Amino acid sequence: MYPIQFQGQTFTAQGKVVPPEGDKCGICGSVLPEPEPEGIITGFAMAKNAVTGENEKICYDCATKMEVENMDYFGQAFLYYDEKTQAITNFIGRVVGGGSRIVRKWQDSFGGERWAIRFWHHGEVWSGTYYKSAGDYIRCKRTKLKGLYS
Ligand SMILES: [Zn+2]
Repeated sequence: MYPIQFQGQTFTAQGKVVPPEGDKCGICGSVLPEPEPEGIITGFAMAKNAVTGENEKICYDCATKMEVENMDYFGQAFLYYDEKTQAITNFIGRVVGGGSRIVRKWQDSFGGERWAIRFWHHGEVWSGTYYKSAGDYIRCKRTKLKGLYS
């Protein structure tokens, strides 16, 4: 009959099984999810620790907070655009900009399609160039515009 499950824990004939402790987020200390064996989702991001200079694993919540703070501080970002939902997201698909508007579309000199897109982030209008033919990324900058239509 062993192993048995009781109150969310596993017991063998020898006693309680303590699961090995997973990696923790270098910022908030939450336990990082196990990576999917065959997937591209790793369950964590990498960031340089400002004190030690070492690269360490951080959770998606902290990665998103860091991205948003970087946007506010530096006024530029490398983000992603979802054509279906028109959402501006970071690399793990968390929405960091909303109410987007396609301002114009054109072809670059290599025949690639580009879109100029404006969106809101923290009460400010950002503009970005979406490289439609080259993936789904969008290079973005904060503007001094008053609105998406100004
Ligand atoms: Zn974290």
